[in-house]
Amino acid sequence: RLEIRNIIRSYDGRRVVDGVSLRVEPGQVTCLLGPSGCGKSTTLRIIAGVEMQDSGEIYADGELVCDTVFRIPPEGRSIGLMFQDFALFPHLSVAENVGFGLPRKMAGRDARIMELLERVGLAHHAGDYPHQLSGGEQQRVALARALAPRPKIMLMDEPFSGLDNRLRDGIRDETLDLLKEEGAAVLLVTHEPDEAMRMADEIALMRDGKIIQQGAPYNIYNSPRDKKAAAFFSDIN
Ligand code: ATP
Ligand code: MG
Repeated sequence: RLEIRNIIRSYDGRRVVDGVSLRVEPGQVTCLLGPSGCGKSTTLRIIAGVEMQDSGEIYADGELVCDTVFRIPPEGRSIGLMFQDFALFPHLSVAENVGFGLPRKMAGRDARIMELLERVGLAHHAGDYPHQLSGGEQQRVALARALAPRPKIMLMDEPFSGLDNRLRDGIRDETLDLLKEEGAAVLLVTHEPDEAMRMADEIALMRDGKIIQQGAPYNIYNSPRDKKAAAFFSDIN
């Protein structure tokens, strides 16, 4: 379980993350939904540990990960990341890319790599190199790579936005199904309401650095807190 409490982060005296608290349960997808510039990516970078909050705490499974005094570095957090630029290592084979985050001497390492490649339908490409794959296939490799260490928490920042529509739905559903099966707590950033409606167990609506409303997609859709929240959903059919 991921929990963050009252995270604050300012740039040049402006609070871009302004007291954000969230909880994501294992096997659940929470969508952080909000317009461009509202602070979604900054929030994720802070949770990942590649950026520091000014105040607030982060917990994983009830254990403190980071506050203003104590700080586990990013590589020690067992948090998986899938961002928009999912770049694979061009000089490594598909299998080596998937195994990148696994200890060299891990028992069952090769089996784990092949299991994941099978699940994303790319076992037959194990020995190929990224440039031999299509964009969608590369993205599935990136997914397998992110899943390999069995992260209990997965942070995803619009990881599907680079894909064409036809590919996107399939890969998105497949990815989130896999993560849920593995019991990961998923925090998925999007600025598209229909994506959040489709994928989320819970939506956290973000505006100007704050969570303005949080709840089940259906509840938020039916009872938006105010006109701005309502307008945000109006383009969904
Ligand atoms: P988008 O949907 O466009 O990705 P976002 O919700 O992810 O937007 P952030 O990237 O978190 O937004 O940025 C929030 C605000 O903080 C923006 O106004 C941005 O300009 C500002 N910001 C982000 N990073 C920095 C930085 N390193 N220095 C100064 N300002 C920053
Ligand atoms: Mg962003």
